[in-house]
Amino acid sequence: MSRHLLGLRDLSVTQIQHLLDLAQSYADGERPAGILAGRTLMTLFYEPSTRTEISFELAAKRAGAEVVRCDVDRSSVKKGESFVDTVQTLEALGADAIVIRHPMAGAPTLASQLVRCAVINAGDGMHEHPTQGLLDLLTVSQRRERIAGLKVALVGDVLHSRVARSALWGFTKLGASLTLVGPPTLLPPLLPSSLFPLPSQVTMTSSLEEGLQDADVVMALRMQLERQQHGYVPSLAEYARYYAVTARTLAYARPDALLLHPGPMNLGVEITADAAYGARSVIQTQVANGVAVRLAVLLWALDIDEQREPPRSLRELGAERGNAGAREREVAEIPATRPLPVIASGASRSGGPRGDLMNNEIATGLRPSQ
Ligand code: ASP
Ligand code: ASP
Repeated sequence: MSRHLLGLRDLSVTQIQHLLDLAQSYADGERPAGILAGRTLMTLFYEPSTRTEISFELAAKRAGAEVVRCDVDRSSVKKGESFVDTVQTLEALGADAIVIRHPMAGAPTLASQLVRCAVINAGDGMHEHPTQGLLDLLTVSQRRERIAGLKVALVGDVLHSRVARSALWGFTKLGASLTLVGPPTLLPPLLPSSLFPLPSQVTMTSSLEEGLQDADVVMALRMQLERQQHGYVPSLAEYARYYAVTARTLAYARPDALLLHPGPMNLGVEITADAAYGARSVIQTQVANGVAVRLAVLLWALDIDEQREPPRSLRELGAERGNAGAREREVAEIPATRPLPVIASGASRSGGPRGDLMNNEIATGLRPSQ
């Protein structure tokens, strides 16, 4: 059986806690060698990535999986192949798990309805970035006794941020309270909760000082210029003047507050170097935790998280690695009647692909990104 990871909103508290515990055991040095031997992970990224793609790849390789990157720019996507056909092709080629990053909210959800292998969302438009959310939780949980009761402030372009949405579900499910801080144009609109659901422990403010007051955790969000369709702020300089997290503005928070940023940073816009590289920053730890979290997610998605044995001696692990290739992989059967493609790539203008995707987005209560 395989499971999909599409968003933290879909996970129970127990599932989140289980993934964090599993990730922590790998962060503590447990060796995953061989556990994914014979499995194939394929990555399909329609948007750039450094941290996420590399850490998925590292996690899978350390556990003995085969990893194939589908290079969208050199694949048949360039000839107009649809997203759906591409995903189904990867499954037919033997993927046990497909990691997808896509500019449209809902794309991984759609993929998950069409394939039997595991689909892992590595960031979809303005919707969610669940593995980022988990590594944010892990980073904070390593430095604080519990997440419950913490005050977390998310600062900046909340409106366009999938990182903010995953953090929002993750932190509130574990009992933290959250304040969204930013100019009114970059905060979620006050719509009926059915259209734009927010957990009840979430408040919003446009005052940085008020938003950071007593915060235990401050997360600066990147200004998502690629998702903004028109000017949301008069200028970046003006934005920075009022909302940049700096060593000075960080003083509004608790003296021991942790500073997070999902990366990549725009230094001088949403965060300044004195804060980003200062004593309270845990930004590099977030990156490092990415590998442990993605490993935990892969095991969970492939339903082998419970089969994990306690750490064994290096000698045994070496022997196991030698046998890795001998294990047979189950080959998924391809359904006789394939569902019709409903999303076309940018190259194809026929049909109404966006209609289906919009339905998907409406189902998640989100607006499409560019
Ligand atoms: N977009 C960022 C980077 O790749 C982080 C990520 O991949 O999620 O640098
Ligand atoms: N790397 C994160 C993402 O892909 C954050 C960002 O790009 O701002 O969503």
